[in-house]
Amino acid sequence: MKPSAFDYKSPTSLEEAIRFLQAGEGNAKIISGGQSLMPMMAFRLAVPEVLVDLKHVPDLDQIEITSEGVRLGARVRWSDISRDTRLTMANPLLAEAITHVAHYQVRNRGTVGGSLAHADPSAELPGVAVTCDAILTIVGPDGSRNQNAADFFVGPLETSLASDEVLTSLLLPAWPAGRRWSFREFARRKGDFAMAGISAFYDPDPEGRATNVHIGCIGVSDTPRRLPGAEAALNGQRPTDDVIQAVVAAANAEIDPPSDIHAPAEYRRGLVGTLLTRSLVEAASR
Ligand SMILES: Cc1cc2nc3c(=O)[nH]c(=O)nc-3n(C[C@H](O)[C@H](O)[C@H](O)COP(=O)(O)OP(=O)(O)OC[C@H]3O[C@@H](n4cnc5c(N)ncnc54)[C@H](O)[C@@H]3O)c2cc1C
Repeated sequence: MKPSAFDYKSPTSLEEAIRFLQAGEGNAKIISGGQSLMPMMAFRLAVPEVLVDLKHVPDLDQIEITSEGVRLGARVRWSDISRDTRLTMANPLLAEAITHVAHYQVRNRGTVGGSLAHADPSAELPGVAVTCDAILTIVGPDGSRNQNAADFFVGPLETSLASDEVLTSLLLPAWPAGRRWSFREFARRKGDFAMAGISAFYDPDPEGRATNVHIGCIGVSDTPRRLPGAEAALNGQRPTDDVIQAVVAAANAEIDPPSDIHAPAEYRRGLVGTLLTRSLVEAASR
């Protein structure tokens, strides 16, 4: 199928973009890389009357690394992230997770803002954002607001964004030296959406015990989420085999994975156990 007819706007400022969205009264949609929106329009799963292209809105394509952390502008593309070698130190979890996103062509167009706003429960960046307690900056007619990633994702393909708001950036908090981390996912083919994925990090104390444990997962619930029970099972412990088994048991008790055409629930549950075990072994060995 082809998309239904739509009007196209190319604003040159954020204010102008918001005015176009307001004028659309809920029937205007932002287009960024078009890699999720255009397929949805082609299948008529999205039928916007107006597309508001962010391409000429300035300053949305910056990657800033400061004492606050890593700030990614909404128009930063996957290929920009993978080319920026500073990120392997500034947030290695992000740098690693992004290597699993899509294929070469999609990576040259798909963007940070598009991925977050599209909110696929299996997408890597939303998972990293939730695991890292990232802050999203959103601008609308009444000004700017910041929101925690965990509160931003409301359901599958659903966020807290209003129809006249623009997501402008994502801040991943500063990454201390010595942090242990891992990102693992399983997809049928490299570049496909994950059936399940784990992102994890902790800061070891001088005795090697895990503190500040963050464990997040993708592909096993309506939104990317942290696993507080699994985190509690690791906090204050050395990641021995017994502890890792306890962490996996805790994770199993707090997930309720979906069954769909890609995998049954029990398969996803098994994947979480395997990926979590491998993640924690890998994190400890870094
Ligand atoms: C073959 C294929 C494989 C893929 N594999 C993966 C994968 O493995 N992992 C993965 O994470 N993704 C994958 N994707 C999706 C891809 O990463 C998309 O690029 C991404 O999900 C959306 O980014 P975009 O810039 O293309 O957004 P668009 O398609 O332009 O927009 C997506 C949605 O976000 C909204 N939007 C965009 N920018 C903003 C903004 N700044 N503020 C508010 N709303 C906004 C749009 O209105 C639209 O609703 C795949 C896509 C394809 C086609």
